[in-house]
Amino acid sequence: MQRFSIHDEQKLQELLGEHKVPKFRYSQIENALYKNFISNFDEIETIPKDLREILNKSCFYSSLTVDHEATSANGQTTKILFKTQDGLLIESVIMRHLSGRNTLCISCQAGCPMACTFCATGKLWLQKNLELYEVVEQVMYAANLLNTEWTRLRNIVFMGMGEPMLNYEVMKEAIHVFTNQKKFDLSNRRVTVSTCGIVPWINKFTQDFPQTSLAVSLHAPNDEIRKSIMPVDHTYNLETLMKSLDNYTDATNKRIFYEYIMINGVNDHLKLADQLGKLLEGRLAHVNFIPYNAGEGTSSDGYSTTPRFIIEKFQKTLEKYWVISTIRATMWDDIDAACGQLARKKKEQEETQEK
Ligand code: SAH
Repeated sequence: MQRFSIHDEQKLQELLGEHKVPKFRYSQIENALYKNFISNFDEIETIPKDLREILNKSCFYSSLTVDHEATSANGQTTKILFKTQDGLLIESVIMRHLSGRNTLCISCQAGCPMACTFCATGKLWLQKNLELYEVVEQVMYAANLLNTEWTRLRNIVFMGMGEPMLNYEVMKEAIHVFTNQKKFDLSNRRVTVSTCGIVPWINKFTQDFPQTSLAVSLHAPNDEIRKSIMPVDHTYNLETLMKSLDNYTDATNKRIFYEYIMINGVNDHLKLADQLGKLLEGRLAHVNFIPYNAGEGTSSDGYSTTPRFIIEKFQKTLEKYWVISTIRATMWDDIDAACGQLARKKKEQEETQEK
């Protein structure tokens, strides 16, 4: 029999049933995994030895292995490059905040089919949709690591590799695991799903997850520029997208996070700041300006980041329209932590070695 993930609750319950194990044992296993941060089944002292043996025989604790791990010089950011069992690379980033509000950025796909021109993951194309356990294991790893630092995970963002709306069922199950009190016990609003704007799935998300936070990669206030950097805009243009986002705010009364990557000479002309202000004026919005991260060592696509003073001008302009914004700190510059950069760099290195 093939072993299955310990995070597969249904299969685990079935296994326990087959062995006539009393029901409370499941809770003990769950507790050991998600609350006591065991790293292998032999550490579960609350259950009998023969049950530990059954788990060892039938389940695996983690399918992912750590290929590379790097912490930024200031200790705030840790980037983990995992290898899946089928040899694909995916990334997670832990961002430690002084306030203790630690955030984990996770991947939901290996590669990504959306092909945004500025994004390293897009250059890998879609390699595969991750399995539920591959998503949960990223969180387990980070939660265990933070536990050794006497702190805990507070927020999870789907802002690593991939488009979460295109692996919807897995994302959905994963959010249930993150927010289940007996598991990671995060509040729904502390989980954020970031999408490039796939309208039908945003509509479904609004129905399924009215409490979960939503971020949208906007990156341009008009279709002409947006189409030139985000192919998704050919299918769902801004008008269609904004309609579905208005529907989300009407249904949830929640503020949407709009991400706006600042790329020199591409989407940072000052007149665009006014367009952005007009677009979001009167809407429940929070804009996050992200300085374009060129990611040293990856092949250049000719983009560079907008100078800081221009980003600040964008921010000032938005104030005129009563739109709140922040400029994202680039605390991960020294470790290639923008979406997909480490995985892409590694893949390029491997390809050069093969040549
Ligand atoms: N597919 C989802 C989530 C993954 S990308 C989405 O599009 O939202 C997470 C965020 O990182 C997106 O806003 C994306 O546009 C941004 N990003 C990608 N490449 C980047 C780079 N080189 N520098 C800065 N931000 C980048």
